[in-house]
Parts: sequence; structure tokens; C-alpha cells
Amino acid sequence: AEMREERIKKTKTVCTYCGVGCSFDVWTKDRKVLKVEPSAESPANGISTCVKGKFGWDYVNSEDRLTKPLIRRGDSFEEVEWNEAIAYVAERIKEIKAEKGADDLGFISSSKATNEESYLMQKLSRQVIGTNNVDNCSRYCQSPATKGLFRTVGHGGDSGSIDDIAKADLVITIGSNTAESHPVLASRIKRSQKLFGQKLYVFDLRKYEMATRADRFYQPNSGTDLVWLSAITKYILDQGLEDKTFLDEWVNGFDEYRESLEPFTMDYASDLTGIPKEELMEVAEEIASSERVAICWAMGVTQHTRGSDTSTAISNLLLVTGNYMKPGCGAYPLRGHNNVQGCSDFGSMPNFFPGYEKTEDDEVRKRYEQAWGVDLPKEPGKDNHQMIEAIHDDNLSAMYVMGEDTGIVDANINYVTAAFEKLDLFIVQDLFLTKTAEYADVVLPASPSLEKEGTFTNTERRIQRLYKSLDPLPGSKPDWEILQLIAKELGHDWGYEHPGEIMEEAASLTPLFAGVSYERLEGYKSLQWPVAEDGTDEPLLFLDGFPFDDKKAKLFPLDYELEYKTTEKYDLHVNNGRILEHFHEGNMTYKSEGITRKTPSAWIEVSEKLAKERDLNEGATVKLYSDAGEAEGVVTITDRVRGKELYIPLNDNGKSAINFLTDNSVDKDSNTPAYKEIAVYMEVVKKE
Ligand code: SF4
Repeated sequence: AEMREERIKKTKTVCTYCGVGCSFDVWTKDRKVLKVEPSAESPANGISTCVKGKFGWDYVNSEDRLTKPLIRRGDSFEEVEWNEAIAYVAERIKEIKAEKGADDLGFISSSKATNEESYLMQKLSRQVIGTNNVDNCSRYCQSPATKGLFRTVGHGGDSGSIDDIAKADLVITIGSNTAESHPVLASRIKRSQKLFGQKLYVFDLRKYEMATRADRFYQPNSGTDLVWLSAITKYILDQGLEDKTFLDEWVNGFDEYRESLEPFTMDYASDLTGIPKEELMEVAEEIASSERVAICWAMGVTQHTRGSDTSTAISNLLLVTGNYMKPGCGAYPLRGHNNVQGCSDFGSMPNFFPGYEKTEDDEVRKRYEQAWGVDLPKEPGKDNHQMIEAIHDDNLSAMYVMGEDTGIVDANINYVTAAFEKLDLFIVQDLFLTKTAEYADVVLPASPSLEKEGTFTNTERRIQRLYKSLDPLPGSKPDWEILQLIAKELGHDWGYEHPGEIMEEAASLTPLFAGVSYERLEGYKSLQWPVAEDGTDEPLLFLDGFPFDDKKAKLFPLDYELEYKTTEKYDLHVNNGRILEHFHEGNMTYKSEGITRKTPSAWIEVSEKLAKERDLNEGATVKLYSDAGEAEGVVTITDRVRGKELYIPLNDNGKSAINFLTDNSVDKDSNTPAYKEIAVYMEVVKKE
């Protein structure tokens, strides 16, 4: 028994399943994950976790894990040794670069990978290859929120911590299925509601769990959040309920902004959103009279053609009511992936070096040129969306995708996979032979979080360390090691022996992370950026003003035009989002037996009214057609959706993927796909 005890290992890690960033000890014996045990020291979650964090780890031992690199030979893959695969990748990259130039290659980093790995992906792209064509999947989710916050308050992250959300007098969630997408954070809200009388207002198309607990719940018509937000702000100003002292002292651009609000009358808002104006006025008055208001939002806001502008409208409202610069208030875009914050923070973006410093800024570029010993490209590169378009336009012929199943998660996947087929060189690095990997020329087997060291940054800008619970599955390697091997083969010997050295380099080059080090992150310690050189971090942003020259925030004028509508032919609107049990495309959770037994596949939610109209029964099979493609699924009749709204969970393991239906429309300011704006018509395949 003693021997057995000895083989049991306890290692601290950080969950990979959402942006809350729960940390806990993983108990392992050999390769078996025995249990997950949160610690009271866990900064984001204390002793809580949710079903994914607790039970979602079987996939690390899945038989489907890749253990040999694969190279395409005709229609099939051949297993090869690592040195052959790396040499092949380097050779082909060299050829393409020599023939077509560095900008013919594109790099996609993973929001599931560590900060250090995101740093290396952009370093590979910029230093070794010489292109700014590097991006990550925040383009698919929260780029619009980042944009909206940058425009107004200068930092793209959450204003405070989960503690601040818990402390607020009024929490408003917009387009967020908080209980299923950010379960532990949602429980903090539930607790504050119960114990401290915190008020919760929910705005969403679908009646999620949080809606049933809310003090007020509204279902604005799809794509109209910008309108009610602006109308409420206008009403507050018209009634003289704004925070005048705050506006005078800390905010620029008032007059122009106020003028832009003219069209947003209560009548107009009520008409477009479908919410009675008396109710909107009450919401406005409640916001204005609450001491501390925190607004949380997610994909229901961002994945629209006006996602950046709607995020901006949220920040405008918070500025007008003085809800920044103090505990318990502010803007909280809830990050989806565990490291979607960090992946952008550490520079896998076409226009930014790590820490959101522009590639176009000569001084910044010089700093990196000196450190890396090469000239670096100035002009912003292509984002994810532009890369796919560039392939179709013959302007991009090689792509390197690390840990993203782009062929399922991007919008309009028929268009995306057609692009993959055109590539001269397609490198995919992943745990499994994903749908995307099926199109690859080279597949490199990676190791998941439990098998490596590094850091993740959660939705609170909190940087936390993960330690290695298991050795990499033989044949697989951590992403940072693979990137380093490729760089070396291409003539740049980075020589990192441990991810801590990568962080050291990033911290030395990036003011935002100046004081970040592995020592300061030891065990359950964490740091919330910005981190000064002496290690002082900022759990609550803006205490000293906003990061602009005069320290003042900016009100950003907006207009509105509904660009998207259902038509006579495409008469139904499809909404989509996460479910509790599964994570994104499902490559990990569908391989976790316990979870899959509980929730084996996705479904299509139909309202009672529509079911009656179309004579549909529970369990009927229907086919949906959009202007981009078609998808089939099984009907479930529910009061969670209304009228002509449909809902499909996005986590469906590629079977009836929602992205056969989404098209090429994007947020106009960030190129984030407008996943939430799909019009379809329905055909009944089988009635029951
Ligand atoms: Fe993991 Fe998020 Fe669940 Fe925490 S709330 S255990 S981070 S999925």
C-alpha cells in the first residue's frame, strides 16, 4: 500500500475549459488522473470547480491521441519520426518563402496553449519568417470587446476581478450564458444575489438559467443591444442622472458623443428592441441610482456585424454613470477559452507585439529588432478571416495552425475547408487528427496542458502557472518545444530550456508584463496585468486614471443601422452558444467518457409556437438552409427560445456543425464572424 501511495502525485494546474481560470491540484498515478482538488488558495475559484474542470480530463489518455508526426503522401498520411517531420516543415517553409515571400505564409496560435507558446508563435512568424500574418481565435469571440474598450478606456481587459463582479450592487449580463459558459463565476453572482441582495438584470435572446434567476429579464430582438444601451444612456443624460463629477474630471469627447445619441429615443429603442419603453426607463433609473454597476458580456454581443460598436456602447454607458475607477464596477467581457486573454496579450495578433504595442510603432519595433537581431515587418498582417480570404485570392499559400480546429469553429466552414484544399503547405499541430488536420500536409502531435509547464491568463487578466502533472504522451511534444525545433531548423536557435525563460524574455520586452516572473507566480500565486517592474500588479484597473496621455477616457460616438434581417425566404433566426458539459468543438470533452455519456450530441431548439405552426414533435429531424450551407439536426421543443428563434449548441463535435450555416459576414471593426446573425429556412425531414 505504501508503494502505491508513493506513486500518487499532486500537481497544481489551471483549468483549460473556460476563462474563469480555476486552479486546483490534480492527483495522478502514473498516467491516470485520479481526482481534482481545489485549494482555498485558488485565487479565482477558491474551493469551487464545475463539471468540466472536475471530470473533463480523460481525453489526455484517449486512444485517439496522436503519437507520431504525419506527412501527407497522396490521399493518406504516413507516420514519420520527429526529425523527418521538422526537416520537412522547415524545407517547405523555406521554399515557399523564397518563391513567394514571407507574407505568403500565415500563422494561427491557440487560445488553449500557454502564454509562452503564443509568444513563440508570434516570434516564429515575425522573427524567423518575417511576417505579421499571425492571429488567434480571440478573433472569433472577444476581439470586438477588446476594440470597444480600447476606444473608450484604453485597456482591452476586464476592469476588475471576479471579486468586483461579486461586490457590485447591480450586475447586468448581456448575450452571456454565464451559468453554462462561466459556471464558477456565475455561482459568485448567485451567491451575492442571495446573501447581499445584489440585483441581476439579464438581456438575452434565450432564456438561460441566469434569466430564470434574474430580477429583470429582457429578450431584445437580435442585433439591437446597441440601441437599448444607447437609448438608456441618452435617457440618463436627458434626465440629468449622469455622474457629472466623473465626466468633468475623467472623460473626453462629451459633446460629440451626446450629439450622436440624438436618434436613440425611447420610442425608437422600444420599437426596434421590442422592450416596452417604460421598462427601459426603469432600467436606466436603476443603473443611474446604483452605486456600483458591473456589466458582463459575451458572444451574444460580440459575434455580430456591430459587435465592436455594441461593446463600445456598454463602455460609454459605464463612463456616463461613473462606473469605472472604483471597486465593484466596470466592464467585464467574459473570455471564453482558458487563455484567449493571454494569447492576444502575448502578441499573436497581426497588428500588435506582446502587450498591445503596435507593429507600426518604430520605437517598439526597434526594441524587438535589437532583441531578436533581425529587421521586422512594420505593416499589420492578415487576421484569421483575411488569411482565409487571401487563400481564395491566391495571396496566401502556406498556413500553420496550432491547436485550433479552424475547419469547425470558423464561420462558413465550406468556404474555409475549400481554402485549406488550395494551400501548398498546411501544417496542423494538435492532440488529435481533428477535422482541420484531415486537410493538412503535416500533422504534429502536441501535448495538452497537463503535460507541460507554462502560464495562462484568465478573464481577470490574472496570470497563473501550471505545472506538469504528467510526462508528454510518448511521441507528442509541448507546443513550445515544437515551435523551438522548427525555429532552430530555420536557423534561429532560441535555446530555451524551460518556459520560465520564455516568460523572462517576454517580460523584459513588454512594459505590460515588466514584473512578471515564474518566482512571483510560484504555486498558487498570481499576478493581474499590468505588472510593474517591482512586481506590483493591478487587480482593479484605472485607479490612477486611463492609459491615455491626459489620463482621461473617451466617449465614442455611435450610429446604428440594422444590417441583418430575416427575409421571406430565410424566415427563421438561428442563435447558438455553449452548453455546460462540452467545450467548443468538443475535441476534448467528447473524448471524456463521463461527459459524453451525459450529453452525447447537440440538438436544435424550437419554440412551442413554431413547433405548432410547423407541426413538429419532440425528436423530429429537420434540415436548415442558409445562404451559405445546410445542416441537419434533431428538434427539441422548449420555452427557452421564442417565436421564430432557433438555438443550436455550438459544441457538437462536428456532426451537425452550426458553421455549415454561418456565412462570411463579420463585425465591421474587427473581422469577427457574425456567428449570431444567421437567417435560415427549415425543411422537415422526419416529423418525430
Ligand atoms: Fe474550468 Fe471554467 Fe469550470 Fe472553472 S468554471 S472549472 S475554469 S470550466
